[in-house]
Amino acid sequence: MSRNAESTAFRSALEVVRGVEPRVADAIAAELADQRESLKLIASENYASPATLLAMGNWFSDKYAEGTVGRRFYAGCQNVDTVEALATEHAQELFGASHAYVQPHSGIDANLVAFWAVLADRVESPALRKAQARQVNDLTEADWFALRRELGNQRMLGMSLDAGGHLTHGFRPNISGKMFDQRSYGTDPATGLIDYDRVAEAAREFKPLILVAGYSAYPRKVNFRIMREIADSVGATFMVDMAHFAGLVAGKVFTGDFDPVPHAHIVTTTTHKSLRGPRGGMVLCGPELADQVDRGCPMVLGGPLPHVMAAKAVALAEARRPDFADYAQRIVDNAQALADGLLRRGATLVTGGTDNHLVLIDVSGYGLTGRQAEQALLDSGIVTNRNSVPQDPNGAWYTSGIRIGTPALTTRGLGATEMDATAELIHTVLSQTTPGTGPDGAPSKAKYVLDPAVAESVGKQAADLLTPFPLYPAVDLG
Ligand code: PLP
Repeated sequence: MSRNAESTAFRSALEVVRGVEPRVADAIAAELADQRESLKLIASENYASPATLLAMGNWFSDKYAEGTVGRRFYAGCQNVDTVEALATEHAQELFGASHAYVQPHSGIDANLVAFWAVLADRVESPALRKAQARQVNDLTEADWFALRRELGNQRMLGMSLDAGGHLTHGFRPNISGKMFDQRSYGTDPATGLIDYDRVAEAAREFKPLILVAGYSAYPRKVNFRIMREIADSVGATFMVDMAHFAGLVAGKVFTGDFDPVPHAHIVTTTTHKSLRGPRGGMVLCGPELADQVDRGCPMVLGGPLPHVMAAKAVALAEARRPDFADYAQRIVDNAQALADGLLRRGATLVTGGTDNHLVLIDVSGYGLTGRQAEQALLDSGIVTNRNSVPQDPNGAWYTSGIRIGTPALTTRGLGATEMDATAELIHTVLSQTTPGTGPDGAPSKAKYVLDPAVAESVGKQAADLLTPFPLYPAVDLG
């Protein structure tokens, strides 16, 4: 697409929206302006390409297409079939998977589809068979009780939330923690690294049906070969949620023992983080689980989002290009430059560094909670998010960590020099912020004190860092 075409496309789209509800058009334009101005270090965010964004805003949004390619519960799905088949083909080729299911609307949905597929595959439940055969209306009250009993108390072993796991890996308040009898593995308190012997021990004791690997806030590679051996040793199905690092797998930065696809029975992902696609999810698996996975609708999902599947096809096609591998490598190079810059300035990092796209700063070294640090950085034009660190004394709300990631800034083109400058800005803010007190004068985990002049100066330097790397340079909304 020529630069001119991109600009015309987005301008025209906004003009049409403005004709109906100008406040929505204004909010869309304001979002672009905000994203252009902010030093975005949120590890789970990125900037999708104009082609990916544009593939989402069209008539596919109007179409119901429950079912799978060529086997729909609705008529007239031939064009949806085309885009779903394309997205599937690109996903299979990109990740070397024999089966891909591209309908999940999000990462959580992808995980639920995977959980149900494994339950259906591993647990003998006539009631579940009926439900899957879309005979839900035929299920009697007794069938529903049987379903609960037959599927109940299956076990899941996943990484704990404070060690970097995701809430869908069995965290109690999430549905996964209610569906499964759950136990978690953490990291070694001394190194912050996964201790595979401890995981094996937990698996031997607990004998899970599903062993889950994958994370939202673990700054290191995971050895999936070893995790598969552990799963095999106890007869567990091995599932990897690669939502965060799918782009690094796609770009062949994670290969061999660190590529989950050859080692896991089932792999789930989001498509919008390091993979740089539209907001959505996906499941990859071998032939044994393929039929169960394809029953994601109706078991877990309703109609798919064909417009998002179209955008997934575009983004996955982009990820198959050679320049995506270069992008993926730069994500990691940038994360390491950022980590090095922070370490040199005296920051404490969980695991002492990174070998993926994210860095976890333990801000207790600055005398702050994650909440105070997050807000002080935000005041200074640096967008991050607070995150628990292993065995976090401040819990999941205030936390003691700040998670930062490089996929978005790498998309903009920032490199090692800018990462070092970013480390300097982060260190400046954190070292000049002090904990505040509540109205009663008691120490507060939320309040903080930062000289507004420091925030302003850092904010200006952050904006200057971005100036040579305009976001969506071809798009001029006028
Ligand atoms: N899995 C992991 C590892 C994640 O980090 C996330 C999101 O942060 C999800 C799943 C859920 O993705 P979504 O927000 O698309 O449901």
